[in-house]
Amino acid sequence: MYYVAEGDDPRRLGRDLVNRVRAHQHIVTYTRTELIQHGGHVGRFWADLRSMRHDGTAVTFRVEHGVTIIATGGYETRQHTWLDIPGVITQETLEELVVHHPEQIAALKDVVMVQCVRPQNTPDYCSRVCCTNTMKNAIRIKLFNPHCRVTVLYKNIVTYGFREQYYTEARRLGVIFIRYSDDSPPEIELSGSGEQRRLQVRIRDLSLNRWLTLPADLIPLSMSIAPAQGTRELARKLRLPLSSEGFFAEAQIKLRPMDFMREGIFLAGMAHYPKFIEESISHALAAAARALTLLAHGTLHLGGIVAEVDPDKCVGCLTCTRVCPFAIPQVIQQEGRNGVGGLGGAAFIDPAQCQGCGTCTGECPANAIQLVNYTDEQMMLREIGGLGEWLPVIGNS
Ligand code: SF4
Ligand code: SF4
Repeated sequence: MYYVAEGDDPRRLGRDLVNRVRAHQHIVTYTRTELIQHGGHVGRFWADLRSMRHDGTAVTFRVEHGVTIIATGGYETRQHTWLDIPGVITQETLEELVVHHPEQIAALKDVVMVQCVRPQNTPDYCSRVCCTNTMKNAIRIKLFNPHCRVTVLYKNIVTYGFREQYYTEARRLGVIFIRYSDDSPPEIELSGSGEQRRLQVRIRDLSLNRWLTLPADLIPLSMSIAPAQGTRELARKLRLPLSSEGFFAEAQIKLRPMDFMREGIFLAGMAHYPKFIEESISHALAAAARALTLLAHGTLHLGGIVAEVDPDKCVGCLTCTRVCPFAIPQVIQQEGRNGVGGLGGAAFIDPAQCQGCGTCTGECPANAIQLVNYTDEQMMLREIGGLGEWLPVIGNS
């Protein structure tokens, strides 16, 4: 992006930030590097990384760290058959033209922008930033070339918060808005041949209830924003959940929007969902603050309510490994953890990672798992010192 609706230059901001990070003596950056394996727990994570050297060879190494922040971002999708038609571009390409080839923008007579376009067989969701981005580019075209007819085909215009002013500004400058529905989506056609070939868009205007044919020199599409490539694989390695749209899913949308259920792993920016730049910055600052609350401590105190496995009762059935929502239990081979009948392994639950939800304790068929402070013995107590005794209820009284 070269400019945002407010007029600021995000590239300059990005360049400044990259330079500050590179120059910082306490920050090490690894580029051309991928995560191979990740393990450990809050305060003591490890990550095996593979870095590609410039000579084409790879080097693998381990980094130990106290917290992990996921900020893998998103991108504008580009998979659509319409994009094979000459003159059909994405909003990102339009922005390149506005900045590098203003003479082409000045020569345009008809521009038809189409909102809410997504690759086939991908989930349908609002990418949040596209409407404001379209207003921004429509306004730029009108300022460069007031005689150009700019039409926006939309399902819903969602210019969040005070960004409504850019919609008002676009209308004031003469941008035409036509609403369509999923029942009758726009159709892009090439008419004529050779020199006379013309692009046109057919659209059924909902307010007029009739089909319109709009000539177009250029058709910029607002393509959906998708999570970064490799997100699914990364989520699997980190044992983190994804939303139905494929972005990372936070622990709680309102109360913990930068946390995961796994302690010590945080989320920032578009890896979470499409966001405006200032929202990504706020999200990143919040994630950094959450990380600092852990890193500022010399010692971490973990919760006392955790599940414990009695290795002498474990039959190695793997039930706990499947039912734990946080994928914490593991059946391991270790001295003193042989399992029933000398199986050669028993389940182990890392107390630093266990969330104490109790699911595995209820599901273990061998009754080998107890939740500390909520053991079967404690839960079945008939008499509680000082509080009296549970009595069975007889009849309806
Ligand atoms: S569910 Fe129980 S018996 Fe089965 S592996 Fe886990 S601890 Fe062992
Ligand atoms: S108590 Fe809950 S979080 Fe802990 S290991 Fe069992 S299922 Fe997983």
